[in-house]
Amino acid sequence: MWKNLPKCNDCGNTSREPQLTCPKCKGLISIPPISGPSINDLNLSSMWSLNAFLPNFSKPISLVEGNTPLLPITNIENYQNLSLKLEFRNPTGSFRDRACSLIISDAVEKNVNNIIGASTGSFSISLAAYAAKARINSVNVVPQNLELSKIEQIKVYGGIVVEKGESVDEAINHSLEMQKNSDSYYASPENNLLTIEGQKTIGLELALQKDRLDCILVPRGSGSLIYSIYRGFEDAISSGWIEEYPKIYAISLEKTQVAHLAESLEVQEAFLLDKVKKIIQETEGKEIEIDAESMLDEALELAKNEGLFIEPSSASVLVAAKSLIKEKEITAESTVAILSGSGMNTLNVYAARLRGKKKIVWGLSESSTTKFEILNLIADKKADYGYFIWISLGKNQSLQSIYQHLTELEEKGLIVPSEKEVKRKHYELTKKGLETLVNMRNLIDYL
Ligand SMILES: [Zn+2]
Repeated sequence: MWKNLPKCNDCGNTSREPQLTCPKCKGLISIPPISGPSINDLNLSSMWSLNAFLPNFSKPISLVEGNTPLLPITNIENYQNLSLKLEFRNPTGSFRDRACSLIISDAVEKNVNNIIGASTGSFSISLAAYAAKARINSVNVVPQNLELSKIEQIKVYGGIVVEKGESVDEAINHSLEMQKNSDSYYASPENNLLTIEGQKTIGLELALQKDRLDCILVPRGSGSLIYSIYRGFEDAISSGWIEEYPKIYAISLEKTQVAHLAESLEVQEAFLLDKVKKIIQETEGKEIEIDAESMLDEALELAKNEGLFIEPSSASVLVAAKSLIKEKEITAESTVAILSGSGMNTLNVYAARLRGKKKIVWGLSESSTTKFEILNLIADKKADYGYFIWISLGKNQSLQSIYQHLTELEEKGLIVPSEKEVKRKHYELTKKGLETLVNMRNLIDYL
């Protein structure tokens, strides 16, 4: 299957398994650089046009992934002419399709009927789609509280979803436990050489697509995307397509409560992050930390001005690009920013922002959501009269509409005016109101 045999960078041990860490010394296993055809002999139509650089499979499973376009920014002054690599144009909306095409091709080669995987979303959506194409059953373990827009997409492709654990690490442990007592193929994006070899085609494509490429901006996440792209450049240099590596900038997030928006940051592969540090040093790039809060606004700007809908974590590269261009550290014309995932995968995050809500509950109207928020405020004794409820909800709607909601809640017997003060109307929950609130909280896991 391999063009060059995987080899441990530390002890030289070779292996045929697609694992990323050496079973002997825990060092990083990689494929030695591959020399492919000359540029003139290549006609890029999908990732598989680059099959000279990919493992051999008797029956590759493809949904025509890769060969994603470069598009320059034309309407946003701050990064005019910056080229964007549209990875969200892949079949299921993320660069993970490049990895899953190889992983499912490997599963087919090994003649399995079932695969088990774990991730925080995009990878599982992709895995479910490619498994469907290969007519393999997929079980996808995801952390509880994963966005519904991701869970439903996995199910649409016929994937079984198991919600387990508070973090992706717990989900991974559970999936490994499930796999142990079965004959299923284990597919996770982490510690997987096929993930790297699939995703490296981004680097190869960049070498073909961009005449002058000085810098690339990549979301750091677990380090897997950066390492993959570097691997692609390694093959491109080995094939004589380019002479040197572009500077690689790794964009990560300052740790804040909104960092959950960046699913990829949740898994930390320490051994890959070490490698990423070396790559940044070698290519004279930089590690840049940005404020996660600004990503959503930047993504909305991109949608409104350029017609591109990406997920908030993908906008981290744009936030970084803005300051790097301003400081004249990079030139927009010779830089590419990698846009890794589609906004469709996090539709509810956008819906919440556009409606001025903390969180959107699917199936509840905007008015019901507000009533639910009001019941929560009164029950938790955070606010119990109209004016202060209005302030507590961020003044996103008129004060009048808050009074209207209170009147309706009172008419339905969910709240009553308390008797403690006469000047203004304070409310408390009735027994029915409390029951309703408890039921709703149980139902939608709001808090
Ligand atoms: Zn080793």
